[in-house]
Amino acid sequence: MSRFEDLRKQMIEYQMAARGLSDQAVLGAINAVPREAFVPTELVEFSYNDSPLPIAASQTISQPYIVALMTAALELKPEDRVLEIGTGSGYAAAVLAEISEQVFTVERHKILVDSARQILEDLGYSNIEVRHGDGTLGWPQRAPFDAIVVAAGGPKVPDTLKQQLAIGGRLLIPVGEDLRRQKLIRVRRVSEREYLEEDLGSVRFVPLIGAAGWADESASAPASEQISMTLPELIYESSEHFASIDHLKLDRLLERIGDSRLVLLGEASHGSAEFYEMRAKITQALIEKKGFVGVAVEADWPDASHIDRYIRGIASNPLLESKPFSRFPTWMWANHCVLAFTRWLKAHNEQISSPERRVGFYGLDLYSLDSSIEAVLGYLETVDPETAQVARERYGCLTPWTHDPALYGKIVMTQQYRACEDDVVAVLLDLLKKRLQYAQGDGDSFFDAQQNAHLIKNAERYYRTMYYAENNSWNQRDRHMFETLQSVLAYRGTQSKIVIWEHNSHIGDARATEMSARGEYNIGQLVRQKYGEQAYHIGFGTDHGTVAAASEWGGPMEIKQVQPSHIDSYERIFHDVHSDNFLLPLRTPMQEITRTRLLDERLERAIGVLYRPESELLSHYFYASLPRQFDEYIWFDETRAVKPLTTPSTRGTLDTFPFGL
Ligand code: SAH
Repeated sequence: MSRFEDLRKQMIEYQMAARGLSDQAVLGAINAVPREAFVPTELVEFSYNDSPLPIAASQTISQPYIVALMTAALELKPEDRVLEIGTGSGYAAAVLAEISEQVFTVERHKILVDSARQILEDLGYSNIEVRHGDGTLGWPQRAPFDAIVVAAGGPKVPDTLKQQLAIGGRLLIPVGEDLRRQKLIRVRRVSEREYLEEDLGSVRFVPLIGAAGWADESASAPASEQISMTLPELIYESSEHFASIDHLKLDRLLERIGDSRLVLLGEASHGSAEFYEMRAKITQALIEKKGFVGVAVEADWPDASHIDRYIRGIASNPLLESKPFSRFPTWMWANHCVLAFTRWLKAHNEQISSPERRVGFYGLDLYSLDSSIEAVLGYLETVDPETAQVARERYGCLTPWTHDPALYGKIVMTQQYRACEDDVVAVLLDLLKKRLQYAQGDGDSFFDAQQNAHLIKNAERYYRTMYYAENNSWNQRDRHMFETLQSVLAYRGTQSKIVIWEHNSHIGDARATEMSARGEYNIGQLVRQKYGEQAYHIGFGTDHGTVAAASEWGGPMEIKQVQPSHIDSYERIFHDVHSDNFLLPLRTPMQEITRTRLLDERLERAIGVLYRPESELLSHYFYASLPRQFDEYIWFDETRAVKPLTTPSTRGTLDTFPFGL
């Protein structure tokens, strides 16, 4: 017998039978329902205590004895149809469904509806229907009911509920003038017009809030009233709410993603733990349930390839070593969330016997002239030392600048130095010419070298053009990311599926933002233009909390306070939804009204590796039309800074215009 089964038996004996409750059908039902499944994870050990427990939305799961007592007072028969008001955790609904034919249950908090529905579905209850709405109005479409039970205390017995009782039906409701103290009333409908009322004693329930209950200004309206709803109310209705990342079930998100080949996961800052954790959770599900074979991230190719070798079991974990990821901004990858994620990837790959199906880890960025040059030369030394010699001379053109490549751009522009374009292109061409010969040895190593040579070619152009026009170098960088992604897709096979982790400003469609007016595009736009509905773009956002960021390029990492969002921003609207965490789908027809109302351009915040709260409006907000940027948006009202693996950051000199995104 499991620990919980044991506890359940004890609960039935000491909390119920000992108090005189002897209805065998009810005790049997209580024994059949795993109460621990309905209790928040952190409280699971108290599941069988003789008390109510807190659940999301400041509500409670009722004390077990009360659930048993009320169920017994309903005098249920197996063929009964039961209406419950106040689904809460869904626990009482499950107990009712063990005894009666069909249970209909209504809850006013969407977050509770979503989680109860999921738990009940997971436990296999097919005779329970959960609805979001005001239960004081009953459920006229499903009436009449043989029994109605209200799990919250109201000021009076609502007439609408009495009218939805079948003749002979029983209604149980806590009634009291005090918000938290009530008498449990049982109403029995004896004929069309006659009702009998009994008082079953004192109880304490959370308040019943609604048209025929207590008033509450934040009470939400049913979906049919969407037109007159405020935007935050609409978002509330259209979203999937969740208490914590651990509790979130991804089934619906995975349905929305469907057969997409590419899933692009954004972030509103490079230093917030929730964004990393959520992306890891989604990516794991995509790998396990949808056959994704690669994760492509906003890191340099050679750094990411160290992780790739680790997760394939070829090398140790680079995040725990000093060299890779030692350049500013170290915390972006060398943090605890990424470490846990890479360990998961390694463990996953260990279970997969064929190397082609193992998950790969790829870097899309191009700030690694020096290590990429080293990698290409190192590769050529092993496969073709003569070509290595030629390549070394050619790359010699760039080597004086590898520690400060921006200087290369400046000096070439002033024509004090020759451009190295021809040299770096020549190395890449040499490599490609001998592709067949080289790849015969070890395809993975050849691919790695080829990508590094490609990176060097693009980085040379990136730095060379940096000083003519800023948009040009931004575009060079995002074009490089897109080309790298294309190479990875081609390498992993024509149908391969890849997850992409980059900042919102890279993965959201640039055409929906003011970047586009500056002539800038990004990988999000390029992906959408090529893959259309085959790519699913998810943006992330937050209102306040802490973030890991530096004040200036190359500066030390600081834990900074994220300012509450600007009044004209999307973030402010999401904050006004008054829900901690949620997913807002923007592509499905169900959300059409919400999407349309969100289309008008507003400010959107982007925090990079730099965060300057003192000039926030100028340095971190831009105009965008959010539903055009993303197919879905994930909100964490409050976020916390990532925990870096090491604190010291080596100084660097590169700059990613404008704010380190
Ligand atoms: N049966 C629940 C206990 C829920 S507590 C369980 O087993 O966990 C009461 C619930 O009633 C709360 O979740 C509260 O949000 C909900 N509630 C209050 N007023 C409501 C109304 N008018 N319509 C629907 N649900 C309501």
